[in-house]
Amino acid sequence: MTVFANLIDGEWVAGDTATQNINPSDTNDVIGDYATASLVQVADAAAAARAAFPAWSRTTAQVRGDILTTAADEMLARKAELGEMLSREEGKTLPEGIGEVIRASQVVRFFAGEALRLKGEKLPPVRPGVDVEVTREPLGVIGIITPWNFPIAIAAWKIAPALAFGNCVLFKPAELTPASGWALADIFLRAGLPKGVLNLVMGSGSVVGPAIIDAVDAVSFTGSVRTGRGIAERAIQTMTRIQLEMGGKNPLVVLDDADLDVAADAAVNGAFIQTGQRCTASSRFIVTEGIHDRFVAAVTEKMGKLAIGHALKAGTQIGPVVDQRQLDSNLRYLDIGTDEGAKKTGGALLDRDTPGFYMAPALFTETHKDMRINREEIFGPVASVIRVQDYDEALAVANDTEFGLSAGICTTSLKYARDFQRNSEAGLTMVNLPTAGLDYHVPFGGRKGSSYGVREQGSYAAEFYTIVKTSYISA
Ligand code: NAD
Repeated sequence: MTVFANLIDGEWVAGDTATQNINPSDTNDVIGDYATASLVQVADAAAAARAAFPAWSRTTAQVRGDILTTAADEMLARKAELGEMLSREEGKTLPEGIGEVIRASQVVRFFAGEALRLKGEKLPPVRPGVDVEVTREPLGVIGIITPWNFPIAIAAWKIAPALAFGNCVLFKPAELTPASGWALADIFLRAGLPKGVLNLVMGSGSVVGPAIIDAVDAVSFTGSVRTGRGIAERAIQTMTRIQLEMGGKNPLVVLDDADLDVAADAAVNGAFIQTGQRCTASSRFIVTEGIHDRFVAAVTEKMGKLAIGHALKAGTQIGPVVDQRQLDSNLRYLDIGTDEGAKKTGGALLDRDTPGFYMAPALFTETHKDMRINREEIFGPVASVIRVQDYDEALAVANDTEFGLSAGICTTSLKYARDFQRNSEAGLTMVNLPTAGLDYHVPFGGRKGSSYGVREQGSYAAEFYTIVKTSYISA
């Protein structure tokens, strides 16, 4: 089988070793072998990026924007093929895979425009004859480390602004989803990037990851809290700028006055679609007394009808869990919840025509806010219901978490919707919508333990990928 190589200084370079990329819907299906970068190769990639930086950072915004536009066009033209490959390696359904490729192409196109829209400031002078200007410059070499759950979209929303503003990149995709990362690097290279500007170094997080952190000027990371903390500790040793997007324990509040159908749809979509493997997935339904039993019945009915199966099969609504380790972890949390005294519905292991990591969505009821299932990120199709008396208690429980990524409320009351929007301690708030499902032209990120550093996406991305210079000029 062909080994998909790393991209270093414009060349495809084989590694000493390679890892197999397996389809979680059918473990007999090997997508390909992907090279593992050695430490020497990471150093080579960093040197190539440093060498490419002076020329690349001085290209015009038009040149950079044109290359990004070419890449976005190719992604869109190949959405069916790339979407299928993404679904094969990650396990999300085919429409979700194609949707993610379309989203990635939109993001890249957006940042093609942002290259031209980068602004500075010229302020009135304080001293006679001394002009003051504030401009933004590229940082240098950016390390980009991404998770498996949005293997093309997250990579795109980090790589595109890095390149648009004139930086060079060392990119490491997650071990479980190298194919999407490889395809993205290939597309950018063929779109006309000069050699060394974007380097792909695949492999293990614990080996390749630290080597990247030590070699770059800034690291943009998305992944688990544990890995994020380790990156922060390492990066501070060299005063390297970091942006960390991490986990969530996202609440969806449902008040007595909610439209029951809207609330149940938001809950089922938010918690279980994409197998619950979204950082913005709802995992705590915080429900007031008057609607509690009707809400639980509606959610249970809807989740029982979800079609779980092979990600590429027509009609599948929920694909498999990404791998055996994540499946084991989900099942462990089902035991933890049951041992804590919660009542479980669903969560069975499922047999399908092909060997894969299939499980039914699970809902815990009769839970307490302090149970581990309500405090720790599970990252699977598992949600729980916490019964509360009124809105004030609901808000307090929603905020009673170390995380703060996305928070939703279902209500027909403008008063409560607005109050929740103001007082919810989350980076994203949703009213009568699932906690997951975002737009690409606005900032994305969380608070508390969910995020560290400035926001990603939209015009806010420039905060991370550029550095400000203040200039004083006397003619
Ligand atoms: P992970 O932390 O295990 O891995 C993420 C990336 O970090 C991978 O590329 C991995 O190889 C790399 N890595 C691992 N150890 C490293 C180290 N020591 N140094 C440097 N890099 C290292 O996360 P995952 O399992 O791939 O993804 C799931 C997690 O990602 C969940 O916690 C989820 O909430 C989070 N996530 C967050 C967002 C967000 O925007 N907030 C989006 C998607 C996923």
